[in-house]
Amino acid sequence: MIREYAVVGGGIGGCSIAALLNAHGHDVVLIEKERTLGGCASTFIHEGNTYNAGATTISGFHEGGIVKRLFNTVGVTPKLISSDPAIAILQGEKSCIRYRNLDTFIEEVNRFYPHPKHDEFWKLVHSVQEAFYALEASYYYSNRSRFKKIVSLFSFYPLLKTFRPYLFFNAKEFITRFYGDIDSEFFDFLEAQILIVAQASCDKINFFTAALALGYTFNETHYPVGGMGAVCETLTSKIPDVRKGCPLLSVKREGDLYHLTTAQGIIRTRNLIMGTSHYESSRWFDDKEIRAYYATFEKRNNQQSAFLLYMKVKSDRIFDHHYQLISDSILPYTLSKSLFVSFSDPSDTAFASGYYHITASIHTDSRMWLGLSPSHYKTQKSDLHDLLQGWICDRLCLQRDAITQSFAATPKTFSRYINRTQLGGNALTLSNSPPLLPSNDTPIRGFYQVGDTSYAAQGWPGVVMGAFNCMRLIHG
Ligand SMILES: Cc1cc2nc3c(=O)[nH]c(=O)nc-3n(C[C@H](O)[C@H](O)[C@H](O)COP(=O)(O)OP(=O)(O)OC[C@H]3O[C@@H](n4cnc5c(N)ncnc54)[C@H](O)[C@@H]3O)c2cc1C
Repeated sequence: MIREYAVVGGGIGGCSIAALLNAHGHDVVLIEKERTLGGCASTFIHEGNTYNAGATTISGFHEGGIVKRLFNTVGVTPKLISSDPAIAILQGEKSCIRYRNLDTFIEEVNRFYPHPKHDEFWKLVHSVQEAFYALEASYYYSNRSRFKKIVSLFSFYPLLKTFRPYLFFNAKEFITRFYGDIDSEFFDFLEAQILIVAQASCDKINFFTAALALGYTFNETHYPVGGMGAVCETLTSKIPDVRKGCPLLSVKREGDLYHLTTAQGIIRTRNLIMGTSHYESSRWFDDKEIRAYYATFEKRNNQQSAFLLYMKVKSDRIFDHHYQLISDSILPYTLSKSLFVSFSDPSDTAFASGYYHITASIHTDSRMWLGLSPSHYKTQKSDLHDLLQGWICDRLCLQRDAITQSFAATPKTFSRYINRTQLGGNALTLSNSPPLLPSNDTPIRGFYQVGDTSYAAQGWPGVVMGAFNCMRLIHG
């Protein structure tokens, strides 16, 4: 049997495009290496306890939001709880809450970091966020050929016209000039929030990207009931052929067909959509054209990655879903001053009753973890584990003896499970922006790519935007 579409990788990207293709009546098979779907957005069991692997928040599920549009198109509904406020940001003695309501948040930010320009600044951030997503359906991005690049440029014309004042300015310069006299503590407050969404520091991105990163909590954000992996399971629940525990081993291209050798046999398909990381996918191909295609983008790999701490803690206190802790210096073996800490919801029966299951993540560089001797790696991992655990306990007033399980993951761990060390996808920086980034189609017939290392960006809204774009490109 020859399949119409085979999608490799059941992360957000692979699940989204497979679900969209199925909803549009196409024949599709989705294969995933692991026994659970989700990749960076999966949920796993460690010694009997459930944890979210990486992603813990969903944005874009508000009325009119792109993630909501995806689930509506597919005709399924994930179980979510609204997280409002979205995040509590703890810096020194300050605890500033990211309220969804703009005016409430402006009052809050003025309470902790008083400045006369806040009103104007946050209204600008809010308006950029709203205007960007209002235009989303018209974006089309392909860099398959010169002609397609020109068509893409035209589709972005409304965006370029609307946001021109913010596209060509480095965000750091823009913010500094805007505020006039910004203090370093407030700048760190902004920078920490920008980094977790834009995956790059303020001096590397334009203000437009920074505003999108700062503004996402003005939309509703959600907590996934049952773990983030359950959202991907729901998304793909109508697809008749989803093969888990089915790693792709190699691909041969013959004429118009792709022959996939997988752990569960051969799949022959006319169209192949890779949902694996762009930077680590060429290993499955011996086709020269495809290997050359991947090589074109190798230099876009920023090697950015993550270190994760997972903890199970007994407590009858009430915690918010998410905290961001900000320190005044970059932590050792990391790239960041800030740690994102997510708690399970006490009503969520996927997690043990009376306990919180915590996923905490911090940016690192994969090269800080690869190539170390086994003993050096072990010591470094345990040092950072202890440092982050101590910081969380101190800042959130958790008793150390209430921790019943605690372990960490490094870029090496992610490589072992999901075949990637670069996490967080492509950052849209000033030197790394469309049309330099991979699009969802390629110059190779029937060969597509989705996920956070191709258009549009990381996280639920960014990856889903890429899946919708891929559908547009498939349907011409
Ligand atoms: C620590 C961390 C925290 C994050 N927090 C958030 C958050 O709170 N909210 C948010 O929206 N985003 C968050 N993100 C970003 C988001 O998780 C990612 O951008 C997104 O999940 C990437 O999805 P993807 O489909 O591109 O890739 P991946 O998640 O990498 O999925 C690729 C899939 O391919 C599979 N695969 C690999 N090799 C093979 C093979 N040979 N055969 C078959 N399958 C294979 C993998 O197992 C994996 O399931 C976070 C990311 C990280 C790393």
